[in-house]
Amino acid sequence: MSERKPICPGLFTWPSAEPALLGSRCRQCGVAEFPQKLSCPACGSEDVGVEELPRRGKLWSWTIQGFMPKTPYRSDETPETFKPYGVGYIELPGAVCVESRLLENTPEALQIGMEMELVVDTFRHDEAGNEIVGFAFKAV
Ligand SMILES: [Zn+2]
Repeated sequence: MSERKPICPGLFTWPSAEPALLGSRCRQCGVAEFPQKLSCPACGSEDVGVEELPRRGKLWSWTIQGFMPKTPYRSDETPETFKPYGVGYIELPGAVCVESRLLENTPEALQIGMEMELVVDTFRHDEAGNEIVGFAFKAV
C-alpha cells in the first residue's frame, strides 16, 4: 500500500489536516529559526525548543526558477517536462523568514508584501510508489 510521506522528518507537522512548519526558538534570546536548529545561531545557547510556526505570512522577496535545479533536486520531472516555479521568502509573524517553493509561477501572480499560506502537497513519488509530500506557499 502506498503512503504519503514527508520529504524530510521534522520539517512540518505530519500527518495533519492543517500542517504547520516546525521551527526552533531560543529560550534565552527569543530568536527563531527554520529549519529547526539544536543551538541558537544568534547567542550560541543550546536552550532551544521546537515550535509550530504561523501558517500565514507575507511575501518578502521572490524569483522564478526557470530551469531544473541540479542534484540533489529530485522530482518526477525531467528537463523536458520541467515547469518553472516560484521561489520566495515568506516572513512569518513573530517568527522567521522561510525560504519556500511557491505555487505561483509567473511574475504577474507575485507581489512583495502579499499574503501567503502554507500548503503541503505531493512533490514526487518514490520507487515504491509512495507520495513524497513537501511544503510550499500559495497566495491567499
Ligand atoms: Zn539565542
